[in-house]
Amino acid sequence: MYYYKVSLLKSNAPYLVYKSDISIDIGSCVQIPLKSKTKQAVILQEVSKPSFETYPIDEVLLYKYSQTQLDIAKFISQYYFASLGEALSLFIPNRVGCCPSTTPSITINPPTLTPPQQKAYNQIKSLDTSLLFGVTGAGKTEIFISLMIDSISQGKSAIMLMPEISLTPQMQQRLESYFGDMVALWHSKLTKKKKEQILEGIYSGKIRIVAGARSALFTPLQNIGLIVVDEEHDDSYKSMNNPRYNARDLAVYMGKKLGAKVLLASATPTPSSYYRYEVVKLKEPYIKTDKNYQFVTGSDITPLMIKYLQANYEKGMQSLVFVPTRANFKYLYCSSCGKTHTCPYCSVGMALHRNHKLLKCHYCNYTQAIVEQCSFCGASPLLSNRIGTQEAIEQIKSAIPAIEIEQFDKDSITTPTKLKKALQNFSLGKSQILLGTQMLSKGHDYANITLAIITGLDYVLGLADYRARERAMSLLLQIAGRSGRAKHATIVVQTQNQEFFSSYLDDYEKFLLDELEFLKMANYPPYSYLARVLISHKDDTKAAKMTLDITTKLKEFDTIEIVGSGKAPVEKISNRYRYNILLKSSQRVELLKALHSIYSPSPSLQIDIDPVDFS
Ligand SMILES: [Zn+2]
Ligand SMILES: [Zn+2]
Repeated sequence: MYYYKVSLLKSNAPYLVYKSDISIDIGSCVQIPLKSKTKQAVILQEVSKPSFETYPIDEVLLYKYSQTQLDIAKFISQYYFASLGEALSLFIPNRVGCCPSTTPSITINPPTLTPPQQKAYNQIKSLDTSLLFGVTGAGKTEIFISLMIDSISQGKSAIMLMPEISLTPQMQQRLESYFGDMVALWHSKLTKKKKEQILEGIYSGKIRIVAGARSALFTPLQNIGLIVVDEEHDDSYKSMNNPRYNARDLAVYMGKKLGAKVLLASATPTPSSYYRYEVVKLKEPYIKTDKNYQFVTGSDITPLMIKYLQANYEKGMQSLVFVPTRANFKYLYCSSCGKTHTCPYCSVGMALHRNHKLLKCHYCNYTQAIVEQCSFCGASPLLSNRIGTQEAIEQIKSAIPAIEIEQFDKDSITTPTKLKKALQNFSLGKSQILLGTQMLSKGHDYANITLAIITGLDYVLGLADYRARERAMSLLLQIAGRSGRAKHATIVVQTQNQEFFSSYLDDYEKFLLDELEFLKMANYPPYSYLARVLISHKDDTKAAKMTLDITTKLKEFDTIEIVGSGKAPVEKISNRYRYNILLKSSQRVELLKALHSIYSPSPSLQIDIDPVDFS
């Protein structure tokens, strides 16, 4: 008889031991009986006969996790605080006996690179992990394609990650024009049938390139030679559910593990990536564009903006209008200098809790009475209102009734079909304005946009987030990059911080260097490591007690700093009361050690390593 330690898939249960009268390979998927049900599990290791009674494994399935998948899943479970079963569930295993033995050698004509592209490409070739820092329209995609062709011609495969919203039919056509049916697009909204088709292609070795959102990282491609992470600054790479991994960071880890080249890319890279990786610059824009920035004040759609929109409409041109996401919180900002009231300890905006008549810092939980005067310039009043997409549309429509507006936010773009439809209407000229939130800033090409209006940028700049400046700056440049790809464009920026933004418009690298100085002074990543402990319970008292107990235990570790502990910014979600503890340390290992000492798998406790969201 054989005894095996198994991990239950999609479960945070501890390891279990089952028996079998046949020998089973490590990594094999099996069916096991559990509490009168049948569950799927993965064979981890053979063990000696335990002292307790064990049940026999029902069936050995035809799927098997590779040793590398097992190793990476172990890392995910340790680093991101999830069970091995949860980590393994991210991956799609290989089919037994279906690994392609020979890879056909294929010749694909690479795109012609311009001298700056060629230079960047050569540099990337010599580096294991690098960051391609290139302005929008500089032609990063041709470089990705050239690298993918290299990988394929060496008999290897390649993964290209991009934010889900960038997986457009245009992107598909572009990739297919080089790789034909060797490339597949992979994302969360694929039908089950389509997924099976793609997997069939991967198993048979026909599909060698998977382009997709973060889950593309877990497809069963063999012999991966290249992982590209486009738009590496995008927060959608971070999973908001257990395991709370960051696909960009994991790509770098996997690259090292698999001996694959990793290329991160962005026009507005994060200060962390810029700091951590070798930077390859691609500065020369492929298509030279001419942008005229206009800075305006105010706090919603102003008559001046209407005038701009009207004029553009009459010229038969199209416009973009950005409205900041309606977050859960409001912030107090100065009507005169535009600065947000910030926490004296954390340098982040303090949120307004009107029903409690106070201001609160969501990092350290410092509270104070609502202030009336700006602490920077002494002016009053301080304002807090912001309009949403709906109100903005109404205001524009009432001024220019004939104009057609495409609403572009999470409320209206709920399916890929709706996304396609909105973009189609716009590209066919059926609508003249694309109005929306952060979604606007993500990888779409429009030739006809000659006006972009960015409202409420100071709101983004004042968010309760140590990355607020980065978010605001990158948003401005990303949106500006969507307009006037081929023509002259006007970018109207509503901010009272003109000095801040205008000094970086032509030089994001200068911003990165200044921002790294700020992060160093305030001791935020990449100069420290952050983690967030999230506690939730239906019983408020129990949640509060758990938080207190965990905080007390964590205080014993003198290598970590407890930034704050108490009620989470969003105090209640689906009837569960939420508390959080924010931790910081200069040593990653020490932070993990402290957290492992308090962690046990439980629906009430989640640990978020390298958090990007603090609500
Ligand atoms: Zn002020
Ligand atoms: Zn604070």
